[in-house]
Amino acid sequence: MISVAVDGPSGAGKSSISKEVAKRLKFLHIDTGAMYRAVAYYAFENNIQSEAIPTYLKDINIEIAFCGNNQIVKLNGEDVSYKIRTPGISSLASQVSKIKEVRDFLLLLQRNFAKTDNVIMDGRDIGTVVLPEATVKIYLTASNQSRAQRRHLQLKKEGINCEYSQILNGIIDRDREDSSRELSPLKKAHDAIYLDTTDLSFEESVNKIIEIIQVATRQESPAK
Ligand code: C5P
Repeated sequence: MISVAVDGPSGAGKSSISKEVAKRLKFLHIDTGAMYRAVAYYAFENNIQSEAIPTYLKDINIEIAFCGNNQIVKLNGEDVSYKIRTPGISSLASQVSKIKEVRDFLLLLQRNFAKTDNVIMDGRDIGTVVLPEATVKIYLTASNQSRAQRRHLQLKKEGINCEYSQILNGIIDRDREDSSRELSPLKKAHDAIYLDTTDLSFEESVNKIIEIIQVATRQESPAK
């Protein structure tokens, strides 16, 4: 099985780029951030404080389904794929992701995907914790401004109205929270390839990653 780990800060384009790479290479794309968002959404909807979440994990069933190339996130049977994308859920997800029990709960789910399919999995700790033996590891980033602009556009497309400045501040806050937390902080794995997409178009970023994967897999299984 081939596994590709894509980590990086919020809004670097990890999910949209990984999704397109997966489509072209016929891999499974797993957006692990969506799983943390689903837990955060559950807590929000049920008025559960972060500290109490471990007690409720037994009541949370997260399923990842695929509709063509689109990942659908189901929380206890309900499709929450869109509801988990709001800025409020983004920052709550960052809080929820600091909880050890939550990370352990989602880790099992995430690792299982890589057992049965060629995957490209994106998140914060894929190359460092979830798939430390991944075939290819990429650390994807971009400047704060370009990440905020991209997120702003993406939310607009999804019909979610939000101020640019609110998004920029949210991104900076989340980066700080994600990089400084004790458990599985966001960091580049020592063997990850660093890719800054500030000056790359979406298409260029996709092609670059496909090229990296092709070079790495060719080296792993040389032609006989
Ligand atoms: O990638 P996305 O912005 O959807 O992730 C939401 C939050 O989930 C992140 O800010 C981060 O705190 C958390 N997360 C994580 N580990 C991952 C993926 C996401 O801690 N592998």
